[in-house]
Amino acid sequence: MGRRKSKRKGPSRKKNIVPMPLLFDCPFCNHKQACEVKMDKAKKLGRIACNVCQEMFQTSVNYLSEAIDVFNDWIDACEEHN
Ligand SMILES: [Zn+2]
Repeated sequence: MGRRKSKRKGPSRKKNIVPMPLLFDCPFCNHKQACEVKMDKAKKLGRIACNVCQEMFQTSVNYLSEAIDVFNDWIDACEEHN
């Protein structure tokens, strides 16, 4: 019987308590880092809004979702619109 020791590298645990605001390039006005994502995981809502052209998008998220997912949903929605 071989006991497997699963050693994971990097014991440094980063605490991710504060949700980091993440910025993305705006697909509407093309401003870099203008769109800010806010995740409301309690309400399962992800919101992204452009600080420049005020374009907004809201999508449903789950506990695995990340800011980039909200942004990708937005891009998908934009492409469907075209
Ligand atoms: Zn914009």
